[in-house]
Amino acid sequence: MTIQLNDSTLLKTQAYIDGQWVDGDKGETFAVTNPATGEHLADVASVGADETRRAIIAAEKAMVSWKALPAKTRSELLERWYSLIIDNQEDLAVLMTAEQGKPLFESRGEVAYGASFIKWFAEEGKRVYGDIIPSTADRRGVVVKQPVGVVAAITPWNFPNAMIARKVAPALAVGCAMVLKPAAETPLSALALVELANRAGLPAGLFSVLPGINAQAIGGEMTSNTIVKKVTFTGSTPVGKLLMKQCADTVKRTSMELGGNAPVIIFDDADLDAAVAGVLVAKYRNSGQTCICANRILVQEGIYDAFIEKFAAAVKGFRVGNGMDADSTHGPVITEKAATEIHAKVQSAVAEGATVVIGGQAGSQGACFYEPTILTNVTDKMRVFREEIFGPVAPVFKFSTEEQAIAMANDTQFGLAAYLYTENMGRVWRVSEGIDYGMVGVNETAISSEVIPFGGMKESGQGREGSKYGLDDYLETKYICIGGL
Ligand code: ADP
Repeated sequence: MTIQLNDSTLLKTQAYIDGQWVDGDKGETFAVTNPATGEHLADVASVGADETRRAIIAAEKAMVSWKALPAKTRSELLERWYSLIIDNQEDLAVLMTAEQGKPLFESRGEVAYGASFIKWFAEEGKRVYGDIIPSTADRRGVVVKQPVGVVAAITPWNFPNAMIARKVAPALAVGCAMVLKPAAETPLSALALVELANRAGLPAGLFSVLPGINAQAIGGEMTSNTIVKKVTFTGSTPVGKLLMKQCADTVKRTSMELGGNAPVIIFDDADLDAAVAGVLVAKYRNSGQTCICANRILVQEGIYDAFIEKFAAAVKGFRVGNGMDADSTHGPVITEKAATEIHAKVQSAVAEGATVVIGGQAGSQGACFYEPTILTNVTDKMRVFREEIFGPVAPVFKFSTEEQAIAMANDTQFGLAAYLYTENMGRVWRVSEGIDYGMVGVNETAISSEVIPFGGMKESGQGREGSKYGLDDYLETKYICIGGL
């Protein structure tokens, strides 16, 4: 076996449907590879529309008794699942680094972060309140919240554990059932997660995991099947738009966590060291492959040269390598294709006049590596300003005034996360309220946790994950009029 686990039974390669580990109907499989080494890790069952339909039917059946349970009983299952995830944190982290590439310390962090959503919603699921509305003397309006129904989830490869946890935890907590299609690059983390749910006592059918390379077949069934009442998706904006269109035919509710184009705005009055430290994390974590990654570094002219100097010095200290090696600070990107696309964006910027301060080419460690890169002399016409880079490339732009910074920040169809560094309290409020983003980090870039509402505006999506608001995406609001009083 190429992945060394303490508990080797966490390496699952079949689909998990209606409480059973099964092969795909046609016996098809797809290969999972380690992006750091190119090593073949596993052949995983590839399912299609028929298996997806069976999982959806099983989910509908399982939901009947699940939603009737007291919230406290559902919470107990989630608590047990949480404990098992924490007990197996190291194995889950090793699986994740093997299939996704991020350094082991980041994988451990993600497993803990994912688990925190399960714990949070185990607690929060007990607090689904309604209202009583006094209208006239002889009637009352009662508002109750009920589970939305069977939920279908589609998740990406950049956070193979946490993007699943923060969808399935609120869904199960309020009484829904879920069918999930994980990304084909990273199915092993998803399958290990559901195995632990199974050990925690998950009722059959309540949470099925459907790995597959034919995303259109699985997604097509999920979005057209009338049993499914809600589709929750994290991934790219084009696929999100497609799924929303597909969901329109049966008027499904949707939650969409899509692409970002996060600005980090650094003003002359910023704490320079804090700004450099913040950008390093916001830009290069997960090798730049997060939807809240800093995409555009906007630096005011008075601090620009000092920023570039300190920033470049810090990036020179990175140790890029296999995420399994304890001294690697940064791993590969997900595929060779991703590395090629990142390089095309850099080359197009350079062709239009950008300067490479550091990096600017494929890494020597393997086919999926790209050197941490800083670009200057960039403009708002370039692809690196307009498009999500999703790689370790930091274009640094210069601005003069606060108004100009706000205009540049808003000059995008995206609106997920933004960051600003300033010591001026008036500016903190003006800029935070003036930029169109779902999340704003002020003098801080590590903004995400289970207690906050994560989500975007504009073409970055709709719905919020985490926090007390995260339950809303899985609840229907029902009004009951009680008359004749
Ligand atoms: P990324 O750039 O992160 O790979 P994608 O949006 O392509 O973003 O993928 C996110 C998830 O959406 C993955 O699980 C992928 O398999 C799935 N996906 C991609 N295309 C479709 C589709 N047409 N229908 C359903 N799911 C899809």
